Amino acid sequence: MIRPKHMHLARLPTPLHYLRGLSEQSGVHLYIKRDDLTGLLTSGNKVRKLEFLVYDAASRGCRTLVTCGGAQSNHARATAAIAAQLRMGCVLLLRGSPGEAWQGNSLLDRLLGAEVRYVSDEEYRQIEKVFEEVRIELERAGRQPYIIPEGGSNALGAFGYVAMVEELKAQLESATLRFDSIVCAVGSGGTHAGLLLGTKLVGLETRVWGVPVSDTAETFRAKIMAIIAEAVATYGLDVTIAPSEVLLLDGYAGLGYGLSRPEELAVIASLAREEGIILDPVYTAKAMLGLLDQVKRDRTRFGEHVLFIHTGGLFGLFPKARELQEAVSSKGGRS
Ligand SMILES: *Cc1c(COP(=O)(O)O)cnc(C)c1O
Repeated sequence: MIRPKHMHLARLPTPLHYLRGLSEQSGVHLYIKRDDLTGLLTSGNKVRKLEFLVYDAASRGCRTLVTCGGAQSNHARATAAIAAQLRMGCVLLLRGSPGEAWQGNSLLDRLLGAEVRYVSDEEYRQIEKVFEEVRIELERAGRQPYIIPEGGSNALGAFGYVAMVEELKAQLESATLRFDSIVCAVGSGGTHAGLLLGTKLVGLETRVWGVPVSDTAETFRAKIMAIIAEAVATYGLDVTIAPSEVLLLDGYAGLGYGLSRPEELAVIASLAREEGIILDPVYTAKAMLGLLDQVKRDRTRFGEHVLFIHTGGLFGLFPKARELQEAVSSKGGRS
């Protein structure tokens, strides 16, 4: 096995703790891995992937990071923060229109000095073509681009979560703890793919469940399998993973990417006041809702000890201030 190298950009290990209130309410032992605390601006799950991707960029002599995402992409913001830290250029291809207000992540992108270019929904569907045009343009200008796919989700990026499983294994050994299931949100699939690969490579007997936040489980199963296949082929990994091992909870994408339903916002409000933990509306609120709803239906579904990965996304809350205001006002005070 060839193990790709990485930079040290994230604050690791991230804390692992017990969610007392939620565990009492749900009847299973719920833990949380605070990957929202990997850094202030380089926060969330993306920096783990970027540690591998940016090492590759630098070792190839590239000087401009190019990536894409939604207008409020956490991945784009984390890439912009790392580029600023390493004094590299940064071009972000964001899905949206130039008239969009600078707020949340898109405000931070600008503060961090990234060059934001908006692409239409139609262009975004063919983002590979846009990447190619930008690559040619930047190469001509002598800016040595390095293209990072959506969410940093390719085989190399997924190693960020293989490394996370190693980190987790060490934490579990010192706490004499084991998990029956790990649950995470699925947006571009790299986190789920990395976790699955990691449990196999590191030898952690834990099921990995993903909650798609847009699109169907079938679409994501194919994406995740493609990342795994690329990793196995590129790095000569001695693992086999069947599509049936990619466990996905269908039915929690709600209104679609970036759109929130009241029950999702209620989960944010509830975790904030009961546990002091802030989830994000685009990913972790949907994933947590999926987890809690499934446990309510079948307490044995994930086993007795369950780990939820908090993948970050804090800045995605602010463009949703008005919707969240309603969710908080309808809750009443904490007793
Ligand atoms: C990107 C993101 C995810 C999804 O991770 P993928 O590896 O893209 O599937 C989950 N949570 C947050 C906060 C994210 O920004």
